[in-house]
Amino acid sequence: MLTPSHYASSLPSFFHRNITLPPTPAPRIVALNTELAQQLELDVDWLHSAEGLAFLSCGILPHRDEASSGPVATAYAGHQFGQFVPSLGDGRAALIADCQTKDDHRLELQIKGTGPTPFSRHGDGRNTLGPALREYLISEAMHALGIPTTRALAVLTTGDMVERDNGPFPGAQIVRVARSHVRVGSFQYAAAHGGLNHVRQLADFTIQRLFPALTNEGPECYLALLKTAIQQQAQLVARWMEVGFIHGVMNTDNCALSGETLDYGPCAFMDRFDPMKRFSFIDKDGRYAYGRQPALALWNLSRLAECLFPLFDDDEDKAIEKAQDALQGYDQLFHHAWLAGFRRKLGLEEQDEHDIRLLEHILETMHTGQADFTNAFRMMSSPDVAIRDDYSALRELFPGNKGHFDLCRTEILHRLTLEKRPAEMRQQAMQATNPRIIPRNHQVEAALSQAIEGDYRLFHTLHDALKTPFAEADDGLAAAPKREEEIHHTFCGT
Ligand code: AMP
Ligand code: MG
Ligand code: MG
Repeated sequence: MLTPSHYASSLPSFFHRNITLPPTPAPRIVALNTELAQQLELDVDWLHSAEGLAFLSCGILPHRDEASSGPVATAYAGHQFGQFVPSLGDGRAALIADCQTKDDHRLELQIKGTGPTPFSRHGDGRNTLGPALREYLISEAMHALGIPTTRALAVLTTGDMVERDNGPFPGAQIVRVARSHVRVGSFQYAAAHGGLNHVRQLADFTIQRLFPALTNEGPECYLALLKTAIQQQAQLVARWMEVGFIHGVMNTDNCALSGETLDYGPCAFMDRFDPMKRFSFIDKDGRYAYGRQPALALWNLSRLAECLFPLFDDDEDKAIEKAQDALQGYDQLFHHAWLAGFRRKLGLEEQDEHDIRLLEHILETMHTGQADFTNAFRMMSSPDVAIRDDYSALRELFPGNKGHFDLCRTEILHRLTLEKRPAEMRQQAMQATNPRIIPRNHQVEAALSQAIEGDYRLFHTLHDALKTPFAEADDGLAAAPKREEEIHHTFCGT
């Protein structure tokens, strides 16, 4: 059931601005997530009707009474690449409604590509088809991989063109769904422009919305909120690392309190394993490279702690100490989640103190061996390797370092003697953990450029295949790119 945005109605206007979205010339749905629509109990025929299109493209809620809120652009600040920007906010997005799912979850719906908002600064408030479809494809792939993420309900073309540096592109909007869009940057905005009362208000809202059980903690609920955020980010980033996902723009305004992956701009999945891999064209120094993501999440959480800590204790020193203690827990939480995740990837049920070393050695060998991260783990999950100990085909995936590979194989086989589970069961578990396919950058780019030309076949083929990333199939989509096919750069918010 659709209702006006809870965020808009629960929080004072300090936190958001009412906006009216200009009608788009010819809204047309080009991608619709019927499975998600069903979960949200939104009738697909209605979404295609004039009323449905007015909702998806302009946020017009049917039967809204005049007193309740319409679309709002939310206010937030943020550290972008380490620099504090006190006023960012939704420059091209608006919350349009909440939706209650069948299993009683309350979700937020947001349109990205609204046209100008009070936070647009020099931007035009627009979105174009390529980035909208990219977000749709990758966020849905993340969901299918079991990773917490915002979801994509629909992409619509607007019927007009949007000017960009590299030419005009079809205008588009994406309607995305999240448990909440509250970000670390939302708290930074409250702290920078309001004060402690504003921070408390937002914290109360976030607790009520996302973690109602924390209200049992009484005055400790704010510290509990920080600890929950720390735990969720540690788990989230560990999941990213397991699938080779590189977010690309881990600014504090893109770090959601809900623990969902938020803001699919320049993100991409790594092909060959490289700890310093980055795609984003603007991330010149590799601040948000693959291997730096765990440390950057902690950096962002530290910014959250700076906003929240005065709520932890009336005594400032004690409040700071509590915040520091909480932040110190991050390394262990991440380490624990990472180790558990990579043990699962290797199909290891038992725990051995040397597992970290083994895993590091495997990853190092992938790096020097120039192995494709996804395909190497997937092949380790094959019956040949995992049941019959035949590593010959896997060895071919490490062209750069077969000597090290042989050492690694010996270590793995030695480690497996500690496992009690039958090899067949271990193999099945590995196959359900190591995806066969991920949205590879060269495939995503090909699908988007064809869609911009009006041919959506590859987009739909990829989208369908990515719904079942662990299933065996012979569709050719698992192939790593040849050197000449690799696409190393992604671009932000075009
Ligand atoms: P992002 O890098 O996507 O996290 O965006 C950073 C900030 O820039 C946010 O405040 C966005 O709303 C804003 N922004 C990005 N693209 C545009 C655009 N085309 N028009 C207006 N604001 C934008
Ligand atoms: Mg953003
Ligand atoms: Mg973005």
